[in-house]
Amino acid sequence: MNKYWSQLATTLNPYEPGEQPQDRKYLKLNTNENPFPPSDVVLSKIKGSVCDTLRLYPDPDATKLKFSIANYYNINVDNIFVGNGSDEVLAFSFLAFFKDKSAITFPNITYSFYPVYCNIFEIEFNEFALDSNFSIDINKIEKNSGGIIFPNPNAPTGVYLGLPDIEKILIKFPNIVVVVDEAYIDFGGVSCIKLVEKYHNLLVIQTFSKSRSLAGLRVGFSIGHPNLIQALIRVKNSFNSYPLDSLAIVGSIAAIEDNTYFTQCCNQIIQTREYLANELASLSFLVLPSKANFLFVKHSKLSAAMLYNGLKENGILVRHFSNPLVNDFLRITIGKKEEMISCVKCMKSIIKAH
Ligand SMILES: *Cc1c(COP(=O)(O)O)cnc(C)c1O
Repeated sequence: MNKYWSQLATTLNPYEPGEQPQDRKYLKLNTNENPFPPSDVVLSKIKGSVCDTLRLYPDPDATKLKFSIANYYNINVDNIFVGNGSDEVLAFSFLAFFKDKSAITFPNITYSFYPVYCNIFEIEFNEFALDSNFSIDINKIEKNSGGIIFPNPNAPTGVYLGLPDIEKILIKFPNIVVVVDEAYIDFGGVSCIKLVEKYHNLLVIQTFSKSRSLAGLRVGFSIGHPNLIQALIRVKNSFNSYPLDSLAIVGSIAAIEDNTYFTQCCNQIIQTREYLANELASLSFLVLPSKANFLFVKHSKLSAAMLYNGLKENGILVRHFSNPLVNDFLRITIGKKEEMISCVKCMKSIIKAH
């Protein structure tokens, strides 16, 4: 133990983001970034804000952004909370709704940041196994859970849970908060935002990082009953009053407003996902049904570790997880069509060589 470190810093168990190697140029299919650039409107609005006003603090509540989101989803401004990436919104949600409750529940496997937050905030958790087809079985959620969180579609599987099942969870657990992390919802799923009015225990979290091509800008938000939003605001104002900088605010507003470009990019990714799914299935991969901007795939014979290394040697990065439950799988981000064609070509030559 380092004598200058706190007990906490010593015992933390940090999240491991997908690698961002600098040794050569890679085709990055490992962190679910969007292959398309941000909308031109976003870029020009951000450039136009690089000026004298940067000496001023931004609006601490990012009110204009909340109005844009409210307008887009046809909800009220007091249903919305915005933060520095959805990871921050998630962290605040753990503090606002899960801290000091009984053990919370999430599936195994899921987004690996959830146990990391539990670790730093000292929140107990129980995991429940996914079904053999990797879907979430809502009957496996603990009766006395202190809170529930899962991504929809789930990460890193891409498997989507329909609204009727989410509604069953909300009805069965009216006294705890259910957080649905919709980081990938724009790639073919139906958002459960429409359930917020009816279920006051539902918090939906979304991000601009994936479907809106703005991972570098760090903007996320959540939608829920004003009572839940108030708790998040209390936590935020006890941590950082200005989580969104001025450029992030103007950029994200423009991203919401350029709906045509957003829809085009999402449709393109969905189409390319179906192309890649078919190609990989014909190369004898098991391809889980995905409603995200990635595929989770397992070859019938060859190991994922070998395929991961083979692709990397050829300049293609995909994600391979060490968790023994899924270490036979690769998670491949959907890029542009021509990038997927190169990926398939490379996969074919690796398979042929073995
Ligand atoms: C990418 C991702 C996030 C984080 O997104 P940011 O807004 O970039 O912090 C949250 N949840 C899941 C499941 C993700 O995959």
